[in-house]
Amino acid sequence: MRCFFDPRQLEHAPAQELHNGAWVPYGEHPGRPRSMLAAIGHVEPAHDHGRAPLLSVHPQPYLEFLESAYREWQAAGRTGDASPYAWPVVRRRPLIHDRIDAKLGLYSFDATSPIAAGTWDSVYWSAQTALSGLDAVLAGENAAFALCRPPGHHCGADYLGGYCYLNNAAIAAETAVRAGRRVAILDVDYHHGNGTQDIFYARGDVLFVSIHADPRTDYPYYWGHSDETGEAEGEGANLNLPLPRGAAAADYLPALEEALGRVSVFGPDLLVLSFGADTFSGDPISHFRLERGDYPGLARRIASLGVPTLVVMEGGYAVDALGDNVAAFLSGF
Ligand SMILES: [Zn+2]
Repeated sequence: MRCFFDPRQLEHAPAQELHNGAWVPYGEHPGRPRSMLAAIGHVEPAHDHGRAPLLSVHPQPYLEFLESAYREWQAAGRTGDASPYAWPVVRRRPLIHDRIDAKLGLYSFDATSPIAAGTWDSVYWSAQTALSGLDAVLAGENAAFALCRPPGHHCGADYLGGYCYLNNAAIAAETAVRAGRRVAILDVDYHHGNGTQDIFYARGDVLFVSIHADPRTDYPYYWGHSDETGEAEGEGANLNLPLPRGAAAADYLPALEEALGRVSVFGPDLLVLSFGADTFSGDPISHFRLERGDYPGLARRIASLGVPTLVVMEGGYAVDALGDNVAAFLSGF
């Protein structure tokens, strides 16, 4: 399978994150892509598609914020990474904010995702990697792997969070739609893809299906519940299949069958697969029990749809096992 990655995706390296109320070393670190690169071997560099595809999902002011936030944070006399700490949850109104502290809260939904010196370059090239993988699929490959890092499925059109800054899967999906494809997105990360869901929630032309940990017990808590089915023209084009903690392959497979059944009914001619390896039993922040040996079979079942598929990397934090888990999954295509 053709695999895509750009070395600039390694530059994003915040020092710490707020996790379960405590400051801990940043979990989504450059060791993750290094583990995957070591296991995959050959990758192709990303091509620069410019900002237009990013702007098809994210508004210009949000992109400008991402690009300048670290500089503005430093200019305000701060040290360390730019991190939000105040949010406009109550009586929100469209104020114009100049203060970086205010912008950080305006454009985020949590405190897990600081902006460091290399963040913009990394997220820009992570999105370009998704677009380069999409090029391969649009050109006729049955499947391609975009080694996106940072991941993307938690961030919405104008907010970051959950280690995510630009929604790589949504950017690829929207670009494919504009190329005339009928697109379904299947998200099999441990966590609900709340950002992707939000971006397409009122759209009937893109199907979003997600299998994930029950948000009553797991991040992102506020989204991913089974009664979220879409709105307006998107009513019925959103399917959430939450599973309890401890779910193993025997529990996962029926949910995958239901997900693929919905995808089949929708009849896409391109599938964007948000793949997270944090469903692995050894993942330090997750609670499913999939084993490495389960991954090729899951991938084969998805591939049996016969729909050209762009695999977009999302989470996975058992870093020593991550590369081999991803390689196992990709072997099923
Ligand atoms: Zn995840």
